[in-house]
Amino acid sequence: MTSAPIGRVVILGGGTAGWMTAAALSKALENTGTAITLVESDAIGTIGVGEATIPTIHWFNQLVGIDEAEFMQATGATYKMGIEFQGWQGPGSSYLHPFGTFGGPGDATMFPHRLIRAWLGGLDAPMEDFALTARAARQGRFTRPTGDPRSLLSTLGYAYHFDAGLYARFLRSMAERRGVVRIEGKVARIDRDVDSGFVTALVTDRGDEASGDLFIDCSGLRGLLIEETLSAGFEDWSHWLPCDAAWAAPSAPETTITPYTRAIAMEAGWRWRIPLQHRVGNGYVFSSAFTTTETARDALVAAMDSPPIAEPRLIRFTPGRRKRSWIGNVVAIGLSSGFLEPLESTSIHLIQSGIAKLLSLFPRQDCDPGLARRFDQIFQREMEDVRDFLILHYHMTAGRTEPLWQACQATPMPDTLATRVEQYRRSGRIILDTDELFRDASWFAVMNGQGVRAMGYNPMLDATPAAENLRHVEAVRAAIRKSAQELPPVVRPIPAL
Ligand code: FAD
Repeated sequence: MTSAPIGRVVILGGGTAGWMTAAALSKALENTGTAITLVESDAIGTIGVGEATIPTIHWFNQLVGIDEAEFMQATGATYKMGIEFQGWQGPGSSYLHPFGTFGGPGDATMFPHRLIRAWLGGLDAPMEDFALTARAARQGRFTRPTGDPRSLLSTLGYAYHFDAGLYARFLRSMAERRGVVRIEGKVARIDRDVDSGFVTALVTDRGDEASGDLFIDCSGLRGLLIEETLSAGFEDWSHWLPCDAAWAAPSAPETTITPYTRAIAMEAGWRWRIPLQHRVGNGYVFSSAFTTTETARDALVAAMDSPPIAEPRLIRFTPGRRKRSWIGNVVAIGLSSGFLEPLESTSIHLIQSGIAKLLSLFPRQDCDPGLARRFDQIFQREMEDVRDFLILHYHMTAGRTEPLWQACQATPMPDTLATRVEQYRRSGRIILDTDELFRDASWFAVMNGQGVRAMGYNPMLDATPAAENLRHVEAVRAAIRKSAQELPPVVRPIPAL
């Protein structure tokens, strides 16, 4: 007999993950009569960081029905066109990982090969000259990509920087308008069915009770349901990703907004700089095996453009993932399911990807274990793909000589990454599965930026003489230069908060 549909969903946690889940489920389940309750504790609070996103955020914002102008105003958001990596190849080095693609319109896959061929033939030109998003970002110019595949503007890409607390508040009002009920209080008791082991209710220290058929654990790094109650287990990846703490501190807003994130290599980790409308977010992500918390704090404050406008906050974490993220009737989304580190701003993406998987595998009350297995399988794979991309940054840091960086250089890469790097070196090919998050342009940017040089390219190009290939590459470069100059300068999208 078919099990009954889910009638009550309970979300534990009101951080970015909790309210993103509430906003998405309240939209997707709008006409099903499913009751959604969210339990959160102001006393515990949220992690309070998570300000940079990647372009997949557009997908989520559209799914829940967000108007861009309203969202940007409400969250102090600015445009983000990529990430500048400073110092990762030693002091003075810099490259940009731009969103969007390299080359001219419709040439995203082949252009990197044309460029590699031109470089091998002696062309001395930086990678950034060949991505409109990168050129525009460096010049402080911005426009949205056009949908016309013949236009150079179709190669652009962007995401946002925003205030994570304001984003959660914005989503909360949206979810509450759609009927989500919020219970404030610290969960003090978790009731479970003796036979199935399913969670049946959360009871707060005030005695409020949230009973449900399906529980979404968005309780943050501790994973109150998935780990502390159901013992999912954790796979620690700190041998590859050595940073395990961060100091975060805001500073005064910029007068001219930089449309990209900066990730600046430091002695024992790296520092982020994220411009919002109403402040600049700063943080030093560091390895506590290679520096002390006091030294890291001082290093952050000394490196900031202007003094902190609030006390720096320390956050500790262990990079890795839960071994299982769906057990029985509990699904973990957000930090409760694992956290790698913020270098490529992937955490909010992983939240929305968790939500997308939940929607497509949405269970009935029996929570078919086959759905849970599939959820876990895709999630594990996604985490490994992101992990490899991050390790590439840490491992390929030839110009850095400090002990942390030397240790990263000496730690063997996972086989999956080593194979990919080798393949790129040999043939210029980046072999990706169809569902991988980071695509050719991102791998190409970071491989080159981190000093991996391709010695081959797609041999189909040999049908064209080298001189003609070079002329084509130079023509694209000139078109990008001209187009970037014609774009409007970045202005505050709306008056500062
Ligand atoms: P939290 O924000 O920790 O929320 C947990 C919720 O659970 C809170 O509401 C809390 O009150 C509630 N809760 C916990 N226990 C109980 C209980 N017993 N009773 C009731 N309620 C409870 N991501 C990005 O995409 N981009 C970035 O730039 C980025 N930067 C980051 C920088 C750092 C240093 C770190 C550590 C993370 C960063 N992240 C970033 C990740 C991002 O912050 C998180 O993915 C995001 O904020 C989601 O957090 P969360 O909602 O899962 O957990």
